[in-house]
Amino acid sequence: MIRKCDEHGYFRGGICPRCQSPGRYVLDDTREEKLGRFVSGALRHFPDSAGVEMDPCGWVSLENLCNILMKRYRWLRKWHLYALVESDVKGRYEIKGGRIRARYGHSVNVDLDYEESNLPYVYYGASPEELDMLLENGIIPVKQRYVHLSTSFEKANEVASVHTDNPIILKIDARAVQEEGFSLMYVNDYIVLAEKIPPVCLERI
Ligand SMILES: [Zn+2]
Repeated sequence: MIRKCDEHGYFRGGICPRCQSPGRYVLDDTREEKLGRFVSGALRHFPDSAGVEMDPCGWVSLENLCNILMKRYRWLRKWHLYALVESDVKGRYEIKGGRIRARYGHSVNVDLDYEESNLPYVYYGASPEELDMLLENGIIPVKQRYVHLSTSFEKANEVASVHTDNPIILKIDARAVQEEGFSLMYVNDYIVLAEKIPPVCLERI
């Protein structure tokens, strides 16, 4: 559910996480989920079949997406898109200058243009089954445009726990990756993206 606090803006759940006020109703769970699924698909995986035109950096016109959504969901208004984006605690999307894009999670071929990360280390949670392969070959995107790395051990553990009961966390020497000529893009407080992580830059912890 998405609600809106007069002071702190859109939030997920029943009470504003910052002031505990119940705020005002914006979207119920079902509509939030439907909208979220379509927006994620359109901006990450199938812009063409969704009917949106995507530029090389992943941006689409907010107006264009909104028109498509309004044909699909008669209840939808433009501010529902802002509500979805601004209440998202994982920062999945961004809106800028009349355009919207997914910050990460693309399978479609985009060239994202985030600043180079200056973190000394980033982390990746692996399953025991894939560990040997990763240590030998490095981390290469599978069915995704980029490898998704975490900004901390805890976050990597959290992400990997969704897929495996016993995540093994790999610590990545960010400077070494950059010295090998690979970029590490800083997306938000959670996520750093890379085209590839060479095996020499990995360490099991
Ligand atoms: Zn509040």
